[in-house]
Order: sequence, then C-alpha cells, then structure tokens
Amino acid sequence: MTARKKRGLFYIVVCALSLAAFSGCARQGSPQEVVITAAPTAAAPAATPTPAFMASASPGVPDEPSPAPSPALSPAASPTPAATKKPKQPLSGLIIGVDPGHQAHADREQEPVAPGSSATKNKVSSGTRGVKTGVYEYEVNLAVGLLLRDMLEEAGATVVITHTEADVNISNIERARFFNDNKVNLGVRLHCNGSEDKSVRGAFMLVPKSKDYPYYDDCVLAAKAILKAYGEATGIDVKKGITYRSDQTGFNWCDRPVTNIEMGHMTNPDEDLLLTDEAFQVKMARGIFNGIVAYFEAKDRG
Ligand SMILES: [Zn+2]
Repeated sequence: MTARKKRGLFYIVVCALSLAAFSGCARQGSPQEVVITAAPTAAAPAATPTPAFMASASPGVPDEPSPAPSPALSPAASPTPAATKKPKQPLSGLIIGVDPGHQAHADREQEPVAPGSSATKNKVSSGTRGVKTGVYEYEVNLAVGLLLRDMLEEAGATVVITHTEADVNISNIERARFFNDNKVNLGVRLHCNGSEDKSVRGAFMLVPKSKDYPYYDDCVLAAKAILKAYGEATGIDVKKGITYRSDQTGFNWCDRPVTNIEMGHMTNPDEDLLLTDEAFQVKMARGIFNGIVAYFEAKDRG
C-alpha cells in the first residue's frame, strides 16, 4: 500500500468514526427529549404545597392550554430563553371569595343563625382584641384579607371581597349570600380568636358541621390544605386542627365551598404581637394563599 493510499484509508476511517459518533448523539438525544417531556408530569405529584405552586408546571392547572412539550418546562432547563416566559397562573378561571371578619363597629341587631331558625345572633359581633397591642381583630382580618386578595389576583383568580374598608355594615347573612351570589369556587372567612386564658394560642379552622352541607368534602379538604400551609408559612401552632360548627351564620346561609380560619389568638401576648405585625401579616396571607393553591391542586388530582 502506498503512502497516498494509506492516507486515503485513514481519512475514510476518520469520516466513518465521525458519522458513527454523530448518529450516536442523535440516538441519545431522542430519549432525552422524552425524559424532559415527562419531567413536569413526574415532578408535580411530589411537589409540596409551599414551593410547589410557583415552581410547578402542574398539568392540572386550569388556566392555559397545555403547552407543547418543551425543555422549557423542565426545572433543569431554567437558563434557557424560555425562563423569561410569563409565570403560570394556577388560579386562573377560579372565583375566590374573601371575607375579612367583623368591621369597625358591631351591629347588635339580631338575625337568624340559619334559614328558618328561631335562634338568632348579632348581625356582626365586635370580635376580639389584642391583649398587648390593643389592636382590634377586624383590623388584622382586613389587613390580611387585602394582602390575600392581591396574591390571589396575581395568581389569576377573580377575587370577590366583602369589604376593603373597615367602616362598613355587612351582616353575616349578607356575607354568606355574597359568596352565593358570586358563585365562588371557594370562600375563605378570616378571623382571629380570643380566650379568657391568655396562654391559649394557635390557629385552627372552622367548617360546617353537617355532612349534608353542599360541598362538605370540599370544605374539609380546603380547611386541611390551608391550615397546613398556614402553619408552614407562619410557624404558628396548628395542632388544634379543624372544628366543626353548626352555629355559624356565615356557614348556614352559604351554599358554596367555604372555610373559616382562626389565624391565632389575640388574647395571647406573643401571638398578639405577631398577628398585628405588618411583615408577619404578609406571611399569614402567603400561608393562606399557598393553602388555597394546594387545595385546588389536590382537587385536580382527584
Ligand atoms: Zn372573629
């Protein structure tokens, strides 16, 4: 074999090896794409409520049509140009009701606690008050309600809120009917609790007691999701869990999925300081918000 032929053979071998290597990459490429495509689906169920919603590209999210499978959906692909894509709006298409409990002045006129009931309660009671700060419950409820409204709207929800100023007069029946009339997908009532025992602390949920309540299961599911996320976001004790109530005007006149959070005890000096702190109120709202998102994600998963 001449030197020229040897060189020719060498080039042929090099070209063949290059082709083999290239087609090898191409073959590796295909399964990689499948992995990336499948990544969001596999990741979604494992996501926890707090970080999940912002990071998650959950397939159950009802707002946008499922985008074409793209590496952009993979959490590992964040440095790509698609990272600038508009964030998902997990609550798009949903109507969320917010009712910050109480108002600047109580209304002691009576109204029936349930349709057809002879038992009555104040149209709006005065609520509790900070044992250390002197701040009224309605002020905390409204501050958190407005923060929550903004977070929900940012996530695509249509938010209906019973009031945005403290000096109003809206009875508990009217608040319940407000949720009904707006056909809310979920109504959240915001309250703080009080106790004669100053050592009592912690947050808990109220839901309608009767299992005949329309959307009873949804009420319980939402209460669990919100309380869990609230505890995670605020560090407030949530061991008390859920209390089932038949004496709540705001439930008995309501026929939508509804739940009530007691965000803490204003009669406990430590919690009073927390609940009335503006920066802490952002955490409170964020926790409730995360719980609402987690609730709808749980519903989507069935
Ligand atoms: Zn209250």
